[in-house]
Amino acid sequence: MTPARAWSVALVGMEGTMVEVEAAIGGGLPRTILVGLADTSLNEARDRCKAAVASTGVGWPSQLLTINLSPATLPKTGAHYDLSIVAAVAAADGRLPKGALEGLVLLGELGLDGRVRAVRGVLPALLAAASNGFSRAIVPATQVGEAQLVQGITVWWVRDLADVMEVLAGRPVLLPAIESATPVEPSEVKDLIDVVGQVEAKWALEVAAAGRHHLFFHGPPGVGKTLLAERLPGLLPDLDLPEALEVSAIHSLAGCGLDDGLVIRPPYSDPHHSASLASLVGGGARVAMPGSVSKAHRGVLFLDEAPEFSPRVLEALRVPLESGQIVLGRSAAQATYPARFQLILAANPCPCGMAATKGAQCQCAPMAIRRYAQRVSGPVLDRIDIHQHLRPLRRSYLEAALAAGEPTAVVADRVRAARDRQRRRLSALGWRTNGEIPGPALRRKLRLPVGFELLDDAVAQGRLSARGVDKVLRLSWTIADLAGADHPSRSHLRTALAMRRGESLEASHGRS
Ligand SMILES: [Zn+2]
Repeated sequence: MTPARAWSVALVGMEGTMVEVEAAIGGGLPRTILVGLADTSLNEARDRCKAAVASTGVGWPSQLLTINLSPATLPKTGAHYDLSIVAAVAAADGRLPKGALEGLVLLGELGLDGRVRAVRGVLPALLAAASNGFSRAIVPATQVGEAQLVQGITVWWVRDLADVMEVLAGRPVLLPAIESATPVEPSEVKDLIDVVGQVEAKWALEVAAAGRHHLFFHGPPGVGKTLLAERLPGLLPDLDLPEALEVSAIHSLAGCGLDDGLVIRPPYSDPHHSASLASLVGGGARVAMPGSVSKAHRGVLFLDEAPEFSPRVLEALRVPLESGQIVLGRSAAQATYPARFQLILAANPCPCGMAATKGAQCQCAPMAIRRYAQRVSGPVLDRIDIHQHLRPLRRSYLEAALAAGEPTAVVADRVRAARDRQRRRLSALGWRTNGEIPGPALRRKLRLPVGFELLDDAVAQGRLSARGVDKVLRLSWTIADLAGADHPSRSHLRTALAMRRGESLEASHGRS
């Protein structure tokens, strides 16, 4: 008895490892044994595969059948090994032509009736297969678009076990699908022109978009904090190809589906304040799945009513904000997911939301207001570059609505130009945006702005913390980039200081 081999992929975090599925027949009482580190879902796989095979009229070997998944040390979870198990068994049983499984990777879960079901992580799994020299893949029919995003792999898509057997027998009824996987245009961009008034807040959003700065919107309910946050992704440039593949792989693992092809627009994630720690940072029983912070990778994470989030959840943002990734330890393995997002927070001035609104009745005790404001504290607040206070419209709504603002396309053009300036200046140093330059490099490798003593004064007067100095410097570069200037002027610096301190720009120099 020579064992037969088929291949699948185990995913731990974003990392895929090839899994060899061996099947050997004979040598004992008729039964099926599954070896290799297997969780419950894998043991279920044995029964599922048997039932699916029986339903198609193909026999399951009636002798001792040993199935081994290796490397044994690797945690293997999920139902996507079904197809590779059935293929290895068929080969061991002598039903497949020689070489049928060579260079082939199989992904797919089987239903009891033999149907092939979609699985998570097809994109990262095939990326791993391609880099390990595999050239062919069998995937569930509904996921062919996702599979075809991977270069160098011929993809066969299958609806049921009968399709699988046809492909393996060398009689593919379904030729490799040839429709191209060109990215589809995003359906509808939320346009900035729909936000009435709030000129300063729109400017803050533009600066945040241009330099990739973290932003905090303060203001009573109904002034447009959420409307503005939702419009940030529309201002950001497209992802480049490596970024798009990375983001798409995360979304594939999270089970979001990639029906529209590669994710080329920066993603937007806005978890509710009742969200659990696991759904925010990622979690799961044995192997952790990506959470909101990873789904927002290379995009925007918006926490509306930030003080309402549990302190544990807010505290958990600290690591990804610092390192751009999140490591989730689980019993089976440690999974690492990228989580480099732009953070937008929004908060009401008090629990009832009415404080600071003229003529409104705030019912909150002063103590409650203070406690509310302190709920977003320390490490997270430290990371915020821009504080922007929004006030209710002073003019009549109609008047403000008639005064046309700028559409997203116009602002996005300015953002793109500012990003180009940053890339030209920073690429040699290894960064792309002002928001990601580390403090020491900011002070030593880039020229200090004219009027730097302004910041010294602010620190001396206790209006700015030492850490705040770096933030103001980063912001001043972005403001200069938006203005098309080669380096920040005194006026840019003053505007940056006001934005960091959450002061009205009318009082300072405002936009040049
Ligand atoms: Zn109140």
